[in-house]
Amino acid sequence: MPRTVSPFTATTLGSPRIGPNRELKRAVESYWAGRTDQANLKSVAADLRKLTWTELTAAGLDSVPVNTFSYYDQMLDTAILLGALPVRYNAVSDELDRYFAAARGNAEVAPLEMTKWFDTNYHYIVPELGPDTTFSLNPVKVLSELKEAQDAGVPGRPVIVGPLTFLALSKAVDGGSKPIERLGEVLPLYVELLRKLADAGAAWVQIDEPILVTDALDDAAGLADQAYTTLGATTNRPAIFVASYFGALADALPALARTPIEAIGVDLVYGAEQAVGAVPELADKLLVAGVVDGRNIWRTDLQGALKTLTALRQSAKSVAVSTSCSTLHVPYSLTPEAALDDALRSWLAFGSEKVVEVATLARALREGREAVAVAFDEANAALASRISDPRLHNADVRTRLASILASGHGRGSADARRESQNARLNLPALPTTTIGSYPQTVEIRKARAGLVTGEIDQAEYTSRMKAEVESVIRLQERLGIDVLVHGEPERNDMVQYFAEQLEGFFATANGWVQSYGSRCVRPPILYGDVARPTPMTVDWAAYAQSLTDKPVKGMLTGPVTILAWSFVRDDQPLATSANQVALAIRDETVDLQDAGIAIIQVDEPALRELLPLRRRDKSAYLDWAVSSFKLSTSGVSDSTQIHTHLCYSEFGEVIGAIADLDADVTSVEAARSHMEIVGDLTAAGFANSIGPGVYDIHSPRVPDTGEIADGLRAALAAVGPERLWVNPDCGLKTRKTDEVEAALRNMVEAAKQVRAEA
Ligand code: GLN
Ligand code: ZN
Repeated sequence: MPRTVSPFTATTLGSPRIGPNRELKRAVESYWAGRTDQANLKSVAADLRKLTWTELTAAGLDSVPVNTFSYYDQMLDTAILLGALPVRYNAVSDELDRYFAAARGNAEVAPLEMTKWFDTNYHYIVPELGPDTTFSLNPVKVLSELKEAQDAGVPGRPVIVGPLTFLALSKAVDGGSKPIERLGEVLPLYVELLRKLADAGAAWVQIDEPILVTDALDDAAGLADQAYTTLGATTNRPAIFVASYFGALADALPALARTPIEAIGVDLVYGAEQAVGAVPELADKLLVAGVVDGRNIWRTDLQGALKTLTALRQSAKSVAVSTSCSTLHVPYSLTPEAALDDALRSWLAFGSEKVVEVATLARALREGREAVAVAFDEANAALASRISDPRLHNADVRTRLASILASGHGRGSADARRESQNARLNLPALPTTTIGSYPQTVEIRKARAGLVTGEIDQAEYTSRMKAEVESVIRLQERLGIDVLVHGEPERNDMVQYFAEQLEGFFATANGWVQSYGSRCVRPPILYGDVARPTPMTVDWAAYAQSLTDKPVKGMLTGPVTILAWSFVRDDQPLATSANQVALAIRDETVDLQDAGIAIIQVDEPALRELLPLRRRDKSAYLDWAVSSFKLSTSGVSDSTQIHTHLCYSEFGEVIGAIADLDADVTSVEAARSHMEIVGDLTAAGFANSIGPGVYDIHSPRVPDTGEIADGLRAALAAVGPERLWVNPDCGLKTRKTDEVEAALRNMVEAAKQVRAEA
């Protein structure tokens, strides 16, 4: 047991780390490019840590997370903490270079895999655990960051990814046992770490166990009990705070509460339903109440939150105020957003503002609402202005939506559609196509930057983009591709491009959020009812079609993906917002059809990302996701062919939903899974056409004709020639033009060979 420590009252679970102006991104990338040295990179990192701690302390937090900084990712940091990096990286002698080799690979070794962190758009590095993996404690990073904080006079609380979450999110390789079965091997390392942290003077430690809000563990309560009974029994340790986030703990809450830990963190925004009051064992714990939304950008209803906090005081020994999760998922600060109107601005809270909300609530809890009356009045006024803002309620949109939903909006039967599309399009068997984007060349980027700085005007920009479209059309004609695309040169991003043209969205000036490693995204904010003032893509599609006799696909992003990659309003169900976006996309498909476009692709690469963490919520999600997609694609006639594109390799739980989308043609990532998806989709009842990606566009490698043909033969065995399309795995925007040309030439040749055999 720890020596008696006093509970803290105000904290956050973690902070953004990329830098308020993406300083870490720049420093890391210039280190990778060999333009700066390690000393420079390390000093940028130390400055950023200090900046974060100073801000948190100044805001009034009395416990400050440390070790939430990362050069790349916290799961990779944890693999290193536990000495669990695969041996193939040992060849890299420098420590930091070894770390980056595991994250991104180098000329000799492949990187570790990367995947989405729970239901967020952050990607973590997936540790590999095999029979050869041995664990050994390597606490240098956490100890040195703790020391750095202590030297700066900061009440630092080391944060580490917990054993259950680490193991559950790792993957077994080389026939190794299921990672979670290795709990007994890693717990002693956590015990040793706790002792070291205590010796280093840490009063508290935060152990993150978000896996406990999912159904990923067979016996979450039992495992929580095992892990934290063991860690709690450590003699000479800091007080233990187990943090959960992204949902409710369910039966892991009483299980954790029965172990000898000192504090439990609960997410009361995304797990508002959890019955904290029903757990008597909390009576001698500190409850860390996540009442400030850490992953969305809306200002907190302080009054409502205070009410929750006050009630919680009955259930726990003491209550601390916190963000619901790390603010890693939101931008740093509202300060740079000078272009927002006052109303919009008053509705928002980014990372810095959230921390101030936490401190304000902690003070209100301590001294009463009167002590912070000004802040409460401001929050109430903002809330009232948001509720009554006319931009949140577009009667036209709501009426139209209701009437389309009420009248039913299905298309004809799949067979009827196929017949009229075949007659109209007259395509060969195994038609060839691409997924949409062509390489984003230096010239394209230059023109886009020039337009922003005013160096070139809109007319000049448009004419350069048209030239690019023409060259992509000519390239596809030369290659002999059957269904062409315009290449998407005019799109900065497949979501932002639409958000910029739709009412109800706005873009931030500096709202960058880490997506993975040094990659940041700037999600648009969906705040009001969505409407489409004018067509968004029709001119480009019509121009491309005017250049060729072959069909050109119209190219749109689907409603689920637009939602997934935006910050979304929290005052109505996601399904309602999805339907509004779907209506705008539906109008666009009709305009494309009227402009003579015969094939329209509506991409949904994020369908799987929004899948709820708990099994019982999944079918309700898939129902609205599928119906919003169908709403967006069912306004066209049977003779217009609808395609969709999905890009991830594990379809598992969404496979039935993919079939339900009922697109005429579905292209999917398949090259890395050897076409297995084709048989799986068919088994799930999918009877429409499918374009399994025949080569992996994530790699610069040019596939040869023989291997593409082999893949096609495998796919053909599962679906037959009438239903098979031939295309790459995904869009080509990250590739170089010569790679693309060579790969597509081989793809067209392979299609010809296999077509002749069929
Ligand atoms: N049409 C998009 C493109 O080709 C699809 C991108 C994606 O699937 N993420 O770039
Ligand atoms: Zn894709």
